[in-house]
Amino acid sequence: MKNKNSEKLFKEAQKYIPGGVNSPVRAFKSVGGNPKFIKRAKGAYLYDEDGNKYVDMINSWGPMILGHAFSPVENQVRKAVKSSFSFGAPTKKEVDMAKLIVDLVPSVEMVRMVNSGTEATMSAIRLARAYTGREKIIKFEGCYHGHGDAFLISAGSGALSLGQPDSPGITSATLGDTLTVPYNDVITLESVVEKNKNSIAALIIEPVVGNMGCVLPSAGYLEQIREICTREGIVLIFDEVMTGFRLSLGGAQERFNIKPDLTTMGKIIGGGMPVGAYGGKKEIMQMVSPSGPMYQAGTLSGNPIAMSAGMAMLKHLKKNPNVYWQLEAAGQEIAYGITQSLKELDLHYTVNQIGSMYSLFFTDQKVVDYTTAKTCDINAFGKYFNAMLNRGIYLAPSQFESLFISEKIDSKIIKKILKANHQSLLDLKTEK
Ligand SMILES: *Cc1c(COP(=O)(O)O)cnc(C)c1O
Repeated sequence: MKNKNSEKLFKEAQKYIPGGVNSPVRAFKSVGGNPKFIKRAKGAYLYDEDGNKYVDMINSWGPMILGHAFSPVENQVRKAVKSSFSFGAPTKKEVDMAKLIVDLVPSVEMVRMVNSGTEATMSAIRLARAYTGREKIIKFEGCYHGHGDAFLISAGSGALSLGQPDSPGITSATLGDTLTVPYNDVITLESVVEKNKNSIAALIIEPVVGNMGCVLPSAGYLEQIREICTREGIVLIFDEVMTGFRLSLGGAQERFNIKPDLTTMGKIIGGGMPVGAYGGKKEIMQMVSPSGPMYQAGTLSGNPIAMSAGMAMLKHLKKNPNVYWQLEAAGQEIAYGITQSLKELDLHYTVNQIGSMYSLFFTDQKVVDYTTAKTCDINAFGKYFNAMLNRGIYLAPSQFESLFISEKIDSKIIKKILKANHQSLLDLKTEK
């Protein structure tokens, strides 16, 4: 595979940008090699600066559920650009967008637009604290909620001791306010809630996890969490930045039929533009400034170009619910195909899949939480990743990320993916 231009750009990038990338997940640190610099994309395919073509299984980490440069989105953006790019005053588009979100997401009665998923989660936590008058929050090991201080913490040794921050620069006060518990473990959660009675403002969770690889909630788990939060007066926040408009039109909450108090959104909601949102019960949302005292603002929030892109995306999804059936079928076909290859090759790795999200974990354990995810053979994943890349399949460059299927992944491309998968696993096996 040609790599000269990407290699050169990466060298130059490192002189001016920390690590050469504007978000760490784009670097190939855990898989080896240099990141590919992408020049353009269309439908299911990415094209890099060396002229290589790849089937894209990242889809901008989620937003491109309808494939790249989807023409209804492109057309609306072109149209919007002609009326200038930002006004700093309200627009009709923001009203239309808010109405559409309230219509689509079951638990959302009011919504505030922001510019990223990180902004949405940071604001939702502040709002929950303002609403309850409490300070602590609960998050789950291995769940990612953006790069806000409160979320960059994962408990090393379980919930009952203080977590270690994942980054320097996080104060001990923040550390003390974030309680972390293992995913899919109600007993530990109950004991942490008991020990911190009347001081927990919010519980934030990815209803289906995408950020330790794809991990599903066990049967009844989300129901139990809903019950605990209701009983204890804790604001339940579903972080649907990844699952929103992906696992169904109404997100994971619609798929599992559970109503959180607040929902954070991002990724698909912007159609590829920088957009996030948080919304939920009217009673809570009315605390947001200027209708209430909880301050939160944004110069570019509800930006007309971004609203046009996001709205074109959501409207198309609403009009074409068959997209979700197709994605479901594609997800199942890929997961089944990978599982068959593993059997044939007598490899005992684990596949998790739901709808258009899936992960192949290089471990023989069932992956249900962060501890089991960490049993993966990272070295084997790195080899597999590069073998797939050389066969024209662009996977997320980390074992701990979910892959995303777009509507443009048709049965012909699925065959190509499964063939590359089989050969790459075979490479790995014969090399051992
Ligand atoms: C991507 C992601 C975020 C952060 O969104 P950004 O737009 O990158 O700030 C938050 N929560 C979840 C679940 C995500 O997947």
